[in-house]
Amino acid sequence: MSPSPSTQRGVVLVADDDPVMRLLMLEMLQQVGLDAIEAEDGRQALRLARERRPDLILMDVEMPHLDGFGACRAIRRSEGPGASVPIVMVTGGDDIEAVTSAYEAGATDFVSKPINWPILGHRVLYVLRASDAIARLRIADAQNRAVLAAIPDTFFRMNRDGFYLDYEPGRGFPSRERDGAVPFTSERCVGRHISEVLPRDIATRVMEQLGEVLRTQQIRSIEYELLRFGDTQHFEARLVATGPSEVLGLVRDISERKRSEEQIRRLAYCDSLTGIPNRQAFLETLERELQRSKVGNKKFAVLFMDLDAFKRINDTLGHNVGDHLLKIVSERLRETIRPSDLVSRSEALPGEAMVAETSATNLARLGGDEFTILIPDLERVEHALNVAHRVKEAMRRPFLIDGNEIFVTASIGISLFPEDGDDCNSLLKFADTAMYHAKNCGKNNAKLYSSSLTMQIMSHVKLEVGLRKALQNDELYLLYQPQLDVRSLEIVGVEALVRWRHPERGIISPTEFIPLAEETGLIVPIGEWVLRTACNQARLWQRAFHRSVRVAVNLSAKQFKDENLSQIVLSALDETGLDPKLLELELTEGTLMDDARATMATLEQLRGIGVYLSIDDFGTGYSSMNYLKRFDVRALKIDRSFICGLPQDSENAAITRAIIAMAHGLKMAVVAEGVETDEQLVMLEQYGCDLVQGFFLGHPSSAETITEMLGPLRLALPAP
Ligand code: C2E
Ligand code: MG
Ligand code: MG
Repeated sequence: MSPSPSTQRGVVLVADDDPVMRLLMLEMLQQVGLDAIEAEDGRQALRLARERRPDLILMDVEMPHLDGFGACRAIRRSEGPGASVPIVMVTGGDDIEAVTSAYEAGATDFVSKPINWPILGHRVLYVLRASDAIARLRIADAQNRAVLAAIPDTFFRMNRDGFYLDYEPGRGFPSRERDGAVPFTSERCVGRHISEVLPRDIATRVMEQLGEVLRTQQIRSIEYELLRFGDTQHFEARLVATGPSEVLGLVRDISERKRSEEQIRRLAYCDSLTGIPNRQAFLETLERELQRSKVGNKKFAVLFMDLDAFKRINDTLGHNVGDHLLKIVSERLRETIRPSDLVSRSEALPGEAMVAETSATNLARLGGDEFTILIPDLERVEHALNVAHRVKEAMRRPFLIDGNEIFVTASIGISLFPEDGDDCNSLLKFADTAMYHAKNCGKNNAKLYSSSLTMQIMSHVKLEVGLRKALQNDELYLLYQPQLDVRSLEIVGVEALVRWRHPERGIISPTEFIPLAEETGLIVPIGEWVLRTACNQARLWQRAFHRSVRVAVNLSAKQFKDENLSQIVLSALDETGLDPKLLELELTEGTLMDDARATMATLEQLRGIGVYLSIDDFGTGYSSMNYLKRFDVRALKIDRSFICGLPQDSENAAITRAIIAMAHGLKMAVVAEGVETDEQLVMLEQYGCDLVQGFFLGHPSSAETITEMLGPLRLALPAP
């Protein structure tokens, strides 16, 4: 780059054969701060121009050996590319021809004789400065070209109306016509509107963004794809505003990036063995379908397929055969759920095309031999069953692998949206449950989740019908479990526990039918029967042994809330003649705490009758000791779960001891439930527990057995 005259003294080559002229020029240049070197003729000027590289040349036209024009031409020829020293020619008066020739020879400017000396210095300075600016521009231009040549992008300029002003295809963009596709070139684009060059929808999007770019003066980018040269190519165009009504566009071929993104997506969403979607992909498809169906009020089904005995094939024929089998299975499934027959419809729906497009993702392998199928737009459940049937049929054809003929069956479970659930995980889980149900029903089967649910409900209903008849049919009976004094080990009471002898199912535990009885309200008549039967039995023992055996009866919350409770208790006592003190009612903490005010009233009535109240399963609920005292509770029955870990479980031991101490503080007795060992008994005695109940001391037993257990004591008693 030429040195700037302002920072460094410039050097001017003065070429003139007239020594006086040279002298004057030197003088004048010195005055404006420039140095000068001299040449006497054209040849010398040429040599000095090459050797000394002056910042400017002031050259007379007429010189011996080589005239100014020739010297100018020669200097220009000898200059390297990009360099261009300003040459100012000194021409004769009004010699227009000479001026023209000077420019043709490559001169930058001219001065004509007679020379206006005071002006010349400034003229020279001006030319130097201009040439400096031009040199800078030339460098900037070269840099821009280098940058644009280095990036692979196509670039174009476009005005606000969408007309190309400029178009420079990038390296790597096809430049020749191939397979009927015409490349984008400057000739094809410049002066044209974008909609003549690109497909209409892409042109529209570009125009939208172009408007935004000009409005906001910010960079925007658009991605689009073109079917070119038999291949889908992806492009990204970035638009940058270069003024109020013009943008620069950079277009990059991003097909490679798209391909690797696709590759990554395939790895993340495809099952590597079979090439069909994997669990993750299926869950996402399911989620989309769920949202779509919720919005559109549509139904869909999830099919869960599992091969029967796949493990056996894997174990006996090896994993290779197993893998091969899974591949063929997935192919058959794919054929089976071809979109055209995925859902049988009488007429095509507007969304048909979209369904067809997405159906490839409606099949997935979750892992192992588990496959899932999503059936969208379900109109009737039968369609899901039809698909399941076709899947089963497809599996029935033998699989020929490595010369082995393999026979396979499949079990299929089906869940339905919205009937069975309204979130993906539940629907998948229910389809899985239904599949297990299908397997349990003898494999090679398809089951709906909802129908298995229906079966459960059916059996529930059946049980309820049976329970209604149980009382009339005398199917209920009571067992009694003894409660012993911890020190004397005498039987001081029994707990009545109800049983149901079902005509088909045999003996059913109260834990199964009491909740059902509560649900249906049957607990009230059943409870009444238990109460009367227990009171009657206690009265019989009282008569037989002349001693008090207190009978404990469990009351459920529903019974406790029954406003006739005290009436029922009273009449049971009346009818049997049992002393109210010998009837114990067991309530749970939950029953008591449910509605403290109502509880108080009921308890008041029961206390009035004079029955004994105890809290069952104590420690498993939450209750305030304060309340218990106010309720006049006489005993706490420590729940079995605390006793069963004794004596090793130190935490439970501490809780047990604390409950006993607390209860005693409130003048309540303590019964330990579920005593199963000798050690537990010893420990409870040490802790000061009052009564014990459990298998170690006696299982729930018939009234006769209890009578026998009480029997020997009669002998010890004085005859009545
Ligand atoms: P619960 O009132 O806590 O009765 C004690 C349960 O523990 C009984 O089960 C009894 O057989 C069992 N058991 C007693 N000692 C041991 C032992 O040492 N180890 C073990 N593992 N278990 C022991 P059952 O007879 O099956 O009764 C279950 C529950 O059904 C009772 O718990 C009670 O809540 C309810 N229930 C029983 N009969 C009636 C009734 O007539 N009316 C009402 N409302 N509920 C009843
Ligand atoms: Mg009980
Ligand atoms: Mg209990």
